[in-house]
Amino acid sequence: MLTGRRNKEFPQLRDVVYLDHTGATLPCVSQLDAFQRDLRNNLYGNPHSRSASSSLCSETVDQVRFRILKHFNTTAEKHTVIFTSGCTGALKLLAETFDWTGQTGSCSAGDGSTQSDHQNGVQCKDRQMGTFAYLQDNHTSVIGMREVAHSRGAKSMCFTSKGIQEAMNRPDGHSDSGNHSTAKDHATLHTQEATLSPTSQQRVTNGPLASSPCNLFAMPAQSNFCGRKYPLAWIERIKCKGLSGCHGNWYVVLDAAALVSTSPLDLSECKADFITISFYKMFGFPTGLGALIVRNSAANVLVKEYFGGGTVMAYLATENFNKPRTSVAERFEDGTIPFLDIISLRHGFDALDRLGGGMNDICEHTFTLAKQVHNALYEWKHDNGSPIAVLYCHNHFVSIHDQGPIINFNLLRATGQYIGYAEVERLAALHDIHLRTGCFCNTGACQQYLNISNEKIKANLDAGHVCGDDMDLIDGLPTGSIRISFGYMSNQSDVDRFLAFIKSTIKVSAAPSTLIPSSSTSSSDSSLKEVSRSSVLSTQSQLPMATAVLSSSTSTKSISSTRPSGIPDTCTSSESASKSSDCSPSASLSLAASSPPATSTSLSSPPISVPPESQTDIPMHGSDNTDAQFPQPSLNGNNLAAKTDSGISQTVQTSGPTEIDAAGPRLTAIYLYPVKSCGAMEVSEWELTDAGLKYDRRWMVVNEGGVYMSQKRIPKLCLIRPVVDLQTKQLVLTYPDMRSFSLPLETVPLETNETTLCQGKVCGDRVKTIDCGDEVAQWLTEVTGQHCRLQKQAEDHQRASKLAQGDDSKSSALSLANVSHYLLINKSSTTSLLNAIHQHAHEDNTETTTVSTLDNLIRRFRANLVVDGCDTYDEESWSELSIQGQAFKVKGRCNRCQMIGIDQGSGEKSTETLSALSAVRGKRIFFGMHIMNSPDLRNGFKLRTGDIIEVLQRCPSVETSV
Ligand SMILES: *Cc1c(COP(=O)(O)O)cnc(C)c1O
Repeated sequence: MLTGRRNKEFPQLRDVVYLDHTGATLPCVSQLDAFQRDLRNNLYGNPHSRSASSSLCSETVDQVRFRILKHFNTTAEKHTVIFTSGCTGALKLLAETFDWTGQTGSCSAGDGSTQSDHQNGVQCKDRQMGTFAYLQDNHTSVIGMREVAHSRGAKSMCFTSKGIQEAMNRPDGHSDSGNHSTAKDHATLHTQEATLSPTSQQRVTNGPLASSPCNLFAMPAQSNFCGRKYPLAWIERIKCKGLSGCHGNWYVVLDAAALVSTSPLDLSECKADFITISFYKMFGFPTGLGALIVRNSAANVLVKEYFGGGTVMAYLATENFNKPRTSVAERFEDGTIPFLDIISLRHGFDALDRLGGGMNDICEHTFTLAKQVHNALYEWKHDNGSPIAVLYCHNHFVSIHDQGPIINFNLLRATGQYIGYAEVERLAALHDIHLRTGCFCNTGACQQYLNISNEKIKANLDAGHVCGDDMDLIDGLPTGSIRISFGYMSNQSDVDRFLAFIKSTIKVSAAPSTLIPSSSTSSSDSSLKEVSRSSVLSTQSQLPMATAVLSSSTSTKSISSTRPSGIPDTCTSSESASKSSDCSPSASLSLAASSPPATSTSLSSPPISVPPESQTDIPMHGSDNTDAQFPQPSLNGNNLAAKTDSGISQTVQTSGPTEIDAAGPRLTAIYLYPVKSCGAMEVSEWELTDAGLKYDRRWMVVNEGGVYMSQKRIPKLCLIRPVVDLQTKQLVLTYPDMRSFSLPLETVPLETNETTLCQGKVCGDRVKTIDCGDEVAQWLTEVTGQHCRLQKQAEDHQRASKLAQGDDSKSSALSLANVSHYLLINKSSTTSLLNAIHQHAHEDNTETTTVSTLDNLIRRFRANLVVDGCDTYDEESWSELSIQGQAFKVKGRCNRCQMIGIDQGSGEKSTETLSALSAVRGKRIFFGMHIMNSPDLRNGFKLRTGDIIEVLQRCPSVETSV
């Protein structure tokens, strides 16, 4: 990062050398400003509510989930983000929900049970018990999982990196490496009651069990002590072959908190089942937010016990009953998630992206800086030739692949004596250098590298040394060390100033006594004398192992309701129906009145007013509300304008049995909506594709946070009229009183650059989209007055319709439309509705209605196809159609939402359309039919206005509601 830029982005670093990025890295100014702006400009409500502000919030949060997954090169199909209070929170959640005893049966795929007993050591005798195995070089927060595992009946094993490699190489042999010990009594006999939560009681009654236990192995992706990167290849080996012959399935949790602050992590490659991170380690803000990233295929092994706000579908206060939600994230995020913090993450990722080089560049940059320091500490000598430092380092910065930008060391005097870390820290402070000392929440690694035995740790504790104090030397030997770590904004001047500081310190320390002001840590502290030096030098320390035994009554199968479904986040079709905010992808029609594109002819119709007494009631077809009566418009001289296939308006009679066209229904208008939720483009003939009308709903408008913006959020969008110009192969966007904007139809300005790819979300499923660039974003922002961008559906991305089943699946590809390929409305039905609206207005003594014309009403429904020449609501009985010999399936009625309240010519909202519709149609407001291609769509097939519609099949009552 250029010095000027760093000064601007990190004013907090102006005078200091900050070298504790593994402790916490720093947020930059542009990130914080963008977040503030975001909060000022957007109304985010509690995501559990159902208001517009709530849905904006939850959709923005979902976009952040995608952003996180994208950062780690995976997708929501493979992984789920569960937000937690931090990396520690994620590890704790995992420990508490992991199915240690295989109750869910998710581990029963194991190799049966008979074979293992005789050949395994003590640890694996009881096949109901899972094992928690972990590397000694783990963060405290990982080691702490052990206690939860014990309380649930699992055993634990601690491995050095050498030990784990031996164990991996001897997957079914005896584990005699000495790295795991036997029972540790404090953990063993927790009372049965303590572990019998209501849920486990339910499980107990649920009958006989299962199954092999589930085992969990925990390793850091990068040691927070010394920066060692552990081989991710271990993960797959452990998952495949297990460890030390322990029976059952193995799962792996990768503590990636330290790694991801300066390195890429590719989850498409990494086989870990669980990955834990903290975001302040990546970009400094917010603190107190992390994630448990779960491989979806492993989600079944998490058993939910506690439930809190938002995580259950139903529960009883008076009875022991609850049903967790099915999506993984929803089940495990109890209470209101910290939604503003989560929304701020986008600005953190943006800050990383603005650097331009991605995590690989950050990785290289920080490694290069750290390596200079490492080499200096390694090579520099005192005048007498003795080394200046002891480095605690695995491989001396040989390779970027096994070393992160962390240097851990202690300084030595020329005499060979240690300089206490607390002393160094105080000196550093005088130089405005911020570093970290002690054991870094990683006692295991500290013991290994500093060669401190368990006995010594305990003796030191007895002697008064606790984590975090400044008793840096006991008996002349260090109780901890010094760690410096680099972040993406670190620069050469940080290195230079640090090395200058080391030089001066070494000089000072060459003198027999230090010039540093008093320290309680002098090596001659008499109270510590009795701690024997030899104990410090004892051999490789081992953490005690523990075995816990739990009554088998808790090891029963979990009730099925507690099992997560494998696939998170995906609406079922019924859910999507109710959520489907605007039926719109296929839902309605709009033509902006202002500047019609050359290729279209706008509808025009005179205002009509139908006296109420002229109406007749007819029974409706296919309605679920048989009480509803439909006012039937009578013509009484009120002829309505309609287009014929020639495109010339003529007056036709629109309704009433006698007016039915002898030739049957005809197609009278075709509309596409190239940009979802923007204005319509009317055409007289148009090519069909597997996903509907060519170019229909291929683009969409998103806000800065990547959230899809519909007319419900920005009503003005209907005034943007996109025109597909097939001649010039351009999409032309027009807006009243604005210069138009053209962009290529096919060759999207995509530099096949991954960062321009982004995932959108339509009705709960995910769409791969391509960002169309800054220029059009600028245009849209001018038009709407909000920061907006245009995205195009990626060509390779196929969405499947929720309405498709069985043989339809081939033909069910969708554009950005929510539900189906085409939405069809019947002009007679629309006329009838118009009459009802006018009747309502009349009854209410409302003189004016904004729905003055048939044209206006048709546009509100944003249909693709308008038919005429058949009875009012006749379309609701259709189930199969043929047009020019090409078959189409009718999939059901379209459930309407508030979007039909938006006047597509003005962007004004009113409620009368929806209330009239609900008055005449009952509670579920259906209008128009969803149509799908049949699988045999002819290549290049074109629909034309005037096409005769043959109704091949009818069903008396279409109950599909979408
Ligand atoms: C920082 C860190 C943690 C703990 O993260 P919190 O945000 O404090 O929960 C865990 N593991 C590693 C490797 C870390 O670096």
